[in-house]
Amino acid sequence: MTATRTDSPSSAVAGAEDLFRTLTGSAPAGVWSAPGRANLIGEHTDYNDGFVLPFAIQHRTAAAARLRTDGRIRVASTFAPEPVEVALADLETLFPAGSRAARGRDAVPEWAAYPLGVAWALRALVPAWVAGTLPGMDLAIASEVPVGAGLSSSAAIEGAAGSALNALWGLDLDAVTLARAGRRAENEAVGAPTGIMDQMASMLGQADAAVFLDCRSLETRSIPLGFAEAGLEVLVIDTGVKHAHSTGGYGERRASCERGAAALGVAALRDVTPADLPRAAELLDPVDFRRVRHVVTEDQRVLDMVAALTADERSRGLPEDVIGDLLVASHASLRDDFEVSIPELDTAVDTALAHGAIGARMTGGGFGGAAIALVDRTLVAAVSEAVRAAFSARGFAEPHLFTVVPSAGPRRDA
Ligand code: ADP
Ligand code: MG
Repeated sequence: MTATRTDSPSSAVAGAEDLFRTLTGSAPAGVWSAPGRANLIGEHTDYNDGFVLPFAIQHRTAAAARLRTDGRIRVASTFAPEPVEVALADLETLFPAGSRAARGRDAVPEWAAYPLGVAWALRALVPAWVAGTLPGMDLAIASEVPVGAGLSSSAAIEGAAGSALNALWGLDLDAVTLARAGRRAENEAVGAPTGIMDQMASMLGQADAAVFLDCRSLETRSIPLGFAEAGLEVLVIDTGVKHAHSTGGYGERRASCERGAAALGVAALRDVTPADLPRAAELLDPVDFRRVRHVVTEDQRVLDMVAALTADERSRGLPEDVIGDLLVASHASLRDDFEVSIPELDTAVDTALAHGAIGARMTGGGFGGAAIALVDRTLVAAVSEAVRAAFSARGFAEPHLFTVVPSAGPRRDA
């Protein structure tokens, strides 16, 4: 795991240390942190075995930790009033494998199922007799990743807890294994049906680069972005509108994708290319066809974005027009074909583009959440002002605006 520090220390580290001292009366053995993430392009492609291009951001979640000698694990968070403590040996009863863990979800507060779920998933990776010898742990967690803004505070808490447990338990697991454990915790201990993009983006992030992920093979490639050198900022426009995975829209979209793949005789929409779309149009009803067309063209846009960012011509500078067009096309496809945008997200994107953004699109699952805009550094203030004014004029709640910087993955901070 990389320990290089390319950006400034995170305020979450001090927060986690403070909480640890309050909790235990003494200093932690160490502090580990992991970042949130933003997705540059590749939306609703992950569960179709497709491609995504997210990057880790500078906002981090930190876990201060120390071993205990009594086989118990205690987690505390600055978000939660009370720490939660269980015996390590009880984790298997709390989160029975494969059961979606209804029992555990009732027995501990939801937030605690993230770090405890990671501990459970990590223990499942070692032989039972080794798991039986793992010592207990105190973990204190603090975060600067906004929750529910589409920046994956969940992957950040999983990555921070996973890194601390991995180090203090001496498991020596690699970043991909820790990402898988985070996803397992989220799917089975928390019960949120998410893909693995967030965890991979958090665990494999590098400064000034994006993580090109093949969601089928889990192969990754670090793609240099060069935004800072080109004078560009990524502006996040958080609409504040909350989305929920459990509401119908997300499940319906997934069902359309599954029907599309079945009708076309492939394992997943990843296996469909733009050239197959005329045949898809004949086989599918118009709504399913549009859902399929989004996924198929979005996969192609990710590949085109990677090609644009890695082309030999990069020596002549960033191909801003190509990048901008791909972002705008992604948004149009999510809005018109996948139909997961909302008026707030469309307003954010249209206003940013009208005020000089190179490109903009909604990011995350949709039905709320945030948009990103790629903006020349000198225009960030003007674009932000214009977005605020447009939201106010339409009677939308005030958006939350801030920039994110492509940053490094997990590290030991102290
Ligand atoms: P996001 O888009 O931010 O990942 P999720 O719903 O996937 O939204 O995850 C948010 C949830 O993760 C929170 O409701 C909480 O349960 C948990 N979580 C995230 N960060 C923390 C933290 N620092 N402390 C405790 N729980 C956290
Ligand atoms: Mg999440």
